[in-house]
Amino acid sequence: MKDTFKHQGMRQQLVDTLVKKGIKDQNVLKAINKIPRHFFMDSGFIDHAYQDKAFPIAADQTISQPYTVAFQSELLQIQPGDKVLEIGTGSGYQTAVLLELGAKVYSIERQQELFKKTSKFLPKIGYRAKSLIFGDGYKGLPVEAPFQSIIVTAGAPYVPNPLLSQLTIGGRLVIPVGDDVQVMTMFIRKGPKEFEKHEFGDFRFVPMLEDKN
Ligand code: SAH
Repeated sequence: MKDTFKHQGMRQQLVDTLVKKGIKDQNVLKAINKIPRHFFMDSGFIDHAYQDKAFPIAADQTISQPYTVAFQSELLQIQPGDKVLEIGTGSGYQTAVLLELGAKVYSIERQQELFKKTSKFLPKIGYRAKSLIFGDGYKGLPVEAPFQSIIVTAGAPYVPNPLLSQLTIGGRLVIPVGDDVQVMTMFIRKGPKEFEKHEFGDFRFVPMLEDKN
């Protein structure tokens, strides 16, 4: 796979689009400007890689829309060295954005085919997560908790309690909540049992599935 001047130009245009749509975080924009999104898609879709759209990847799943990736990443306010848990590795694109932001990333995927594919692929293009895990994101990752940030990249019918309890004090959970349409929701942990909740409008994700491994 090659990253040509043409791809780089298209990526700059995508970044300009995200700025127009309201993304402000320079580190997030830089990450998106740097990561060759076309590497994360099957070759037939390369022409679509720099449109602000979600696209099919393997196993009936999608690579999230760049605006959605940027929006969620901005909400997390990641500092270099933060421990971050991602639920729904998928193509690994969001994982790469988190790594560019300097996070130590743990990412869980429940589809074995995608887990295998992405585990091979990410290190090949130089992105090394702390750990990619095949498993059920509803449980979080208790052995590595607490996390400064947890990001869910599938539509959750409800907010799983283990994810809230695996946040540091001051930590953030960003999760799209709902069935057909999801409300982007952020919880900030204020104390052992206190959480502040913020809502940010409607998004559409593939569903976060339970008990189907
Ligand atoms: N972040 C991904 C988005 C992929 S779509 C990307 O940028 O490509 C959401 C992913 O969540 C899918 O790969 C799906 O298999 C996964 N998923 C759904 N339910 C899950 C669960 N309970 N635990 C872990 N992953 C899950």
